[in-house]
Amino acid sequence: MTLSERLARVLERIRNAEAQYGRQEGSVRLLAVSKTQPAQAVREAAACGQRAFGENYQQEALAKREALAELGLEWHFIGPLQANKTRRIAECFDWVHSVDRLKIAERLSAQRPTTLPALDVCLEINISGEASKSGLTLAELPEVAHRVATLPGLRLRGLMCIPAAEADFTAQRVPLARLHQALDALNADGLALDTLSMGMSADLEAAVAEGATIVRIGTAIFGPRH
Ligand SMILES: *Cc1c(COP(=O)(O)O)cnc(C)c1O
Repeated sequence: MTLSERLARVLERIRNAEAQYGRQEGSVRLLAVSKTQPAQAVREAAACGQRAFGENYQQEALAKREALAELGLEWHFIGPLQANKTRRIAECFDWVHSVDRLKIAERLSAQRPTTLPALDVCLEINISGEASKSGLTLAELPEVAHRVATLPGLRLRGLMCIPAAEADFTAQRVPLARLHQALDALNADGLALDTLSMGMSADLEAAVAEGATIVRIGTAIFGPRH
């Protein structure tokens, strides 16, 4: 299959899942995760109409963003964040999905240029409680969320997770449902969050079933990573 065919197939998977699980048509956005893929692959996807791209590594992302500047694409940072490397992210990205501590949020807010709109952010939750993964615990979440929501350079949009891999559909849904509940609880407590960033190539349908509003898809669009 060509990239264009794979992208079309992913969009079809999203639309089919929306229909099957009672989601409004068009309520799930596709973030094309282009990490390790060349700028040319991003250009090809953009030529098919894809606008939003996710990247994990700052240097790689900034090189592609520069190479493709004339396309006016939307760039989402979804990778690990180091406190001493937030400035370029605050300056160059439209979204950050992987904010996993207050200190990072404070730095991104302070470093966001005032000439740009507030940076859209999600808080990353370690939803399967894995020692190897970053992310806030659900216990830490409420206090951090309420504080991040007050930061002037940021707009807290919602929650993101990377659950432990499960092959079984029913098992995939469990942590995703838990993330949705956490979002509902924050909204019941006065926040106004509209984003659940969850679902990758292997659990896209489970994520749509559980309320994802952004799915982050790499391999199913671009093929194996380089
Ligand atoms: C790489 C990556 C993805 C995409 O994963 P695929 O399985 O290739 O679809 C999504 N989210 C994050 C945070 C990633 O690092």
